[in-house]
Amino acid sequence: MYTLLNGTVNKNLSQHKLKLYFNLFRNYSSREFLNDVYSRTKLKCKSKKLPQDVNPKGVFACNELDLSEVKVYGFDYDYTLAHYKPSLEHLLYNLGRNMLLEKYKYPAEISKLEYKPHFAVRGLHYDIEKGLLLKLDSFLQIQFGAVYRGLTPVSTEEVLKIYKNRIIPIAYVEGDNRAHKENRAKMVHLADLFSVPEMGLLCNVAEYFIRNHIDYHPEILFLDVKNSVQSCHPIMHKIVAQNVDEYIRPNSDLKKYFQLLRDHDKKLFLVTNSPYHFVNAGMEMLVGSDWRDYFDVVIVNANKPKFFTEVSRPIRVFDKNANTHIWEKVTSLEKGIIYYEGTVKQLQELTGWCGHQVLYFGDHPYSDLADVTLEHGWRTGAIINELTHEIKTLNTQTFKENANWLQMLTQIIEDHQDHKEPEAVEVIAQWMAERDQLRNDTKSVFNKQFGSVFRTYHNPTYFSRRLFRFADIYTSNIRNLLNYSLTHTFYPRRGVMPHEYGSYFV
Ligand SMILES: [Mg+2]
Repeated sequence: MYTLLNGTVNKNLSQHKLKLYFNLFRNYSSREFLNDVYSRTKLKCKSKKLPQDVNPKGVFACNELDLSEVKVYGFDYDYTLAHYKPSLEHLLYNLGRNMLLEKYKYPAEISKLEYKPHFAVRGLHYDIEKGLLLKLDSFLQIQFGAVYRGLTPVSTEEVLKIYKNRIIPIAYVEGDNRAHKENRAKMVHLADLFSVPEMGLLCNVAEYFIRNHIDYHPEILFLDVKNSVQSCHPIMHKIVAQNVDEYIRPNSDLKKYFQLLRDHDKKLFLVTNSPYHFVNAGMEMLVGSDWRDYFDVVIVNANKPKFFTEVSRPIRVFDKNANTHIWEKVTSLEKGIIYYEGTVKQLQELTGWCGHQVLYFGDHPYSDLADVTLEHGWRTGAIINELTHEIKTLNTQTFKENANWLQMLTQIIEDHQDHKEPEAVEVIAQWMAERDQLRNDTKSVFNKQFGSVFRTYHNPTYFSRRLFRFADIYTSNIRNLLNYSLTHTFYPRRGVMPHEYGSYFV
């Protein structure tokens, strides 16, 4: 049937028998044998059909969601309805850098530091004590090779020296406010797309300090950069409102989607932290001057997440002509009127909209999605712009081949790692080196420094674990919803648990 010692195996031998065969000869660990295992596995990998492309315009479900139950559609504005061109990152970076110079009196040479697009990705952590920008996975493990001081990668040896471990204690990452403990978190999670240029500025300035041997305090630098960039938001709002075409990506499908919702008697509302004049300029460009007609309620300067967590902040009427809010008490919400601040409690009381009949779309897993789903039982949709780039990368043939081979190579390492004979140890070390290279290749195609927003090698990132917890569905753009009917049910994929079959019907 088959010969064992020369390693040739009947090609009809089933996977199951092959495994038995390996197990029977587990002690057999010559170089020839292991090389043969490697070649056969490689051949099998090459013969495997590559997975079909993922639709970059797909809507993906974390939790079952039946749209026929949804009567009310709510939207955030920035990065949910309005997607910005890279020019906005440059603008925020430049404004923040100028503020560092003017208000905080940073060294004049900083004015020469240009923005480096694609340096950082959203979802990273900044260690305010140690001054490191790093990527954590859902187990709070550091992703080695994705730790930066300024623009310089920090070696794995140094990272281990600094943290003494690859897993960071939860109190260090998130703080600890259990009884009798008031430990402040030492890390900040940068989950907002507006924080990408902020990270760019932070790393550029830190790099400048390091190269010029200037002693600096990482927390002070972090706070100065954050305050500089955030205090520039009103200036940014003005500039963008005057040049919407330069900063906002057009999206003619938005109007179609709003019209479809209205035609099916759905209620629509907008809750945004941005000011009216900025939202109005963007919405006029995206939807038209009649954009307010699509919305039953519009709330600006909402101050999320407080809008979703506080109970006693009165909702006010905003006078768009006088550009101010007025003092009168609000007892009902009317279409066409712009509201200001308030709380979700009032919104629910005045409209009667609550629970699973509301679907709210936002791009921020915490300030848009966490509280509404955990506290109010709303359904949630995350708009994650980065999905377009991530899915296009997943769909390349090289990525598919590498990802496939990485899985299979890992499997043969797992199966043969217990051989301790010197020949076997040497071969397995080569496999491990190849695996490390493959892991780096499959990581750096997403972003050279930090890899994918969603993955740290095999684990989900800290960011994506939270996203999957707080979002029922997620997609790259609101317009993708137009490809589904308003009675569509999104079903999550039945994921494979570690103790279950590797695939169905094996
Ligand atoms: Mg937003």
